Amino acid sequence: MAILLKNILTTVTFNDKDEIFSKTDILIEDNQISSIGKNIAPPGGAEVIDCTNLIALPGFVNTHHHLYQTLFRGIREVQEKPLFPWLIGLYEFWKHITPEAVYYGAMVGFSELLRTGCTTTMDHHYVFPEGKPGTLIDEQIKAASEIGIRFHATRGSMSLGKSDGGLPPDVVVQKEKVILEDSERLINTYHDNRRFSMQKIALAPCSPFSVTKELMIETRKLAREKGVMLHTHLAETIDEERFCLEMFGRRPVELMADLGWTGSDVWFAHVIHINEAEMKLLDGAGVAHCPSSNMKLSSGICPTSELLDAGVKLSIAVDGSASNDGSNMWEEVRRAYLLNHLKYGSNGLNAYQILRLATRGGAEVLGRNDIGILQEGMAADIVLFDLNDIAYTGSHDPLVSMVTCGNSSLVKMTIINGRVVVKDGEVLTINMHKMKEKAHKTATDLVEYQRRHV
Ligand SMILES: [Zn+2]
Repeated sequence: MAILLKNILTTVTFNDKDEIFSKTDILIEDNQISSIGKNIAPPGGAEVIDCTNLIALPGFVNTHHHLYQTLFRGIREVQEKPLFPWLIGLYEFWKHITPEAVYYGAMVGFSELLRTGCTTTMDHHYVFPEGKPGTLIDEQIKAASEIGIRFHATRGSMSLGKSDGGLPPDVVVQKEKVILEDSERLINTYHDNRRFSMQKIALAPCSPFSVTKELMIETRKLAREKGVMLHTHLAETIDEERFCLEMFGRRPVELMADLGWTGSDVWFAHVIHINEAEMKLLDGAGVAHCPSSNMKLSSGICPTSELLDAGVKLSIAVDGSASNDGSNMWEEVRRAYLLNHLKYGSNGLNAYQILRLATRGGAEVLGRNDIGILQEGMAADIVLFDLNDIAYTGSHDPLVSMVTCGNSSLVKMTIINGRVVVKDGEVLTINMHKMKEKAHKTATDLVEYQRRHV
């Protein structure tokens, strides 16, 4: 199957030469880009799509999420709280999640991501309630495959319950043996390391305040033995810093370095409270910058420009939908730009640099060299934007206006692995109306159940 994207107004490649082409064609054959150039003749049977007024970018890569949280947005009991009390309040709702809830939570999050230009996402699932089936990540993988998004699932974990000095209630933590066995099962069953892989697994203990040091070490050993990546939350709040100093006598980044959790096969979410010496300790690890979440939970401002100057791989992510509360990559791009400018003023990153973080930057953080760039031989993960709207009228720079004026409605088409998944705002691969009804009912039932049982 071939698709010819004809006469694209602007093609932003994010290739090594930072090339931006005008009035160009892109030919997609099977799941990859087979050529970019002018006046490409369509092969026999190719679908030709007129892109005269459209802008093409590599699809966004979202490097941090908790998809199940899409069913727990706007919970009045915790909505205005900072991270620790917010988590403590939400665990009471999350302890009721079922495989069905995880499936629908994933479908909702995936749909929002796809409609806002995201073609690859990760998820960090770490809540496995006692007495419930443990096949929750299997449900997410099923949903990803049905809807057609490129998916990096991470096997999260919590083992340090309240009775052992941790933050989560004991009912949502698991024995470390169970966690490691399930981690291995998921890698053996689903991890596909081939070029253009649509599903990968990584291992992701939740945070320094919800697992033991032993689990961090054993997880690291298993991941490196199996050749999968490592992920966790890190240096998100001052509360976390205090916890690590009291519990371990180390600041969060120092602790992770002690545990061997640094290097290019590791990426961390947030990384706000970090000093210059600690940036060097990361040793090639990546960071998922989550602007909305950091603002909502008043966690702080990620030192994005300093991290980049220190050679840290940086990307942009939506974070879980209870702390955002949306899965809108487009908004995250704009907020990353604005927050960077709040912190660095006229030395801040420009629109091109921010868009690069959200595309090629995310691919680099996830350890991929087959997505995030528009060039021959790369995966056909392409998003087409339409700036023919009143919101962009009078703007003199398409890249700047995409970041500063736009909203997700400018996504005209999302193509993943050579397949058109979103067209004119509609997800083509599922029955959105039916899914939405089921997801909302599942969410309401779970939240009302907890409220009745307080
Ligand atoms: Zn998170």
